[in-house]
Amino acid sequence: MENAFIVFAILILVITLLIAYFLIRYAKVLGKRAGFDYKQVVYQDIREDGTLTRPLYARQYGLVGKPDWIIEENGSLIPIEDKPTSMNLYPSHIGQLMAYCFLIEEVYGLKPPHGKIRLSDRIEKIVYNERAREEVIRILRRMREDLKKDTIHPNHPDKNRCLSCKYLDICGETKR
Ligand code: SF4
Repeated sequence: MENAFIVFAILILVITLLIAYFLIRYAKVLGKRAGFDYKQVVYQDIREDGTLTRPLYARQYGLVGKPDWIIEENGSLIPIEDKPTSMNLYPSHIGQLMAYCFLIEEVYGLKPPHGKIRLSDRIEKIVYNERAREEVIRILRRMREDLKKDTIHPNHPDKNRCLSCKYLDICGETKR
């Protein structure tokens, strides 16, 4: 019985190590495709041992987020988002990336000069500056105000967006 338990424990350990190994390899391949060297990575979604990384948290603004990667580039911390199935750069991609730049500034005290988004066929570099920071703060303030309201209307007339939305069946504002 004891032997069976030891064999089982070893099996679990081997499986865990194999999963971690493949996750790390996958992250390295993605990193290469995203246009950076894996050695530059200072933060990633999945740690070397396969466990998930703690999200970045700006307490004062109630903002939490996990960039796919943060790399060190010429002394700056740069967030990188991976959108491998998207050919287009959408405002929501830019908003998400700017929020990560903001989080890095708040958590590490270092203002990233830009962030990067890897789309299916190219890498887009988006500048982060004081104006972008103010815009993130403005949107956070507006979201908090909206949360207090009984009804919030959508800010878009896009039927296609509704079609792929997980709230399609329960949202009373769905565009059809
Ligand atoms: S279904 Fe509702 S929540 Fe989803 S995108 Fe459309 S309007 Fe927005």
